[in-house]
Amino acid sequence: MASNIAGPLLNTAKPRLIQRIVQYPHPALRHRCRPLRQVDAELWQMVAEMLELMYERDGVGLAANQVDLPYRLFVMNPTGDRTQKEQEFVLINPEILSRKGGMEEKEEGCLSLPGIFAPVRRSSKIVLAAYNLQGQEVKYEFEGLAARAAQHELDHLDGVLFIDRLRPACLAEIREKLLELEQEFRTNRRLGLIPDDAQIAARLAALEALRT
Ligand SMILES: [Zn+2]
Repeated sequence: MASNIAGPLLNTAKPRLIQRIVQYPHPALRHRCRPLRQVDAELWQMVAEMLELMYERDGVGLAANQVDLPYRLFVMNPTGDRTQKEQEFVLINPEILSRKGGMEEKEEGCLSLPGIFAPVRRSSKIVLAAYNLQGQEVKYEFEGLAARAAQHELDHLDGVLFIDRLRPACLAEIREKLLELEQEFRTNRRLGLIPDDAQIAARLAALEALRT
């Protein structure tokens, strides 16, 4: 069930490069991702694993720092359906060229903030430039859910979460749930399941040195 692009690589016996999706308030989510210099086979495998995780968790988008990678890259499929390959996007070093069509407020969720949903104002239409997995420049015009998901994922790459964009009243409504996630994070760290901040920063810096 691998993607078109990286399927053959998944059939090899390579170990998984990506362990899991990190959850708020993991520091990787506040990391500003750096542009990639090159596309290589290992990156293809990372992308294949990101797509797999996104579909497994019923997401429509996943940014690299959500899987503890410091690269400017996200995957997206607004249908959430792995069989709809024409709706599957891998966007490397993405940039918004223009915003059109005014603003729209709709509910969002995030795989790094499980169980939390709230309305966010976003541009209803965007033009986005990026590189694909073949290292070619691509340009897309997204609207509706695709535009929303792309802006949400681009925010991730800048260390911004959708909860940062909520109206104060909405933020107040989800505050309890955020505190629960913070508590869970502290517990997991005490149990040794999550490294300390210095270790996380050192790992991200080492990965950056390899590819950015
Ligand atoms: Zn998200």
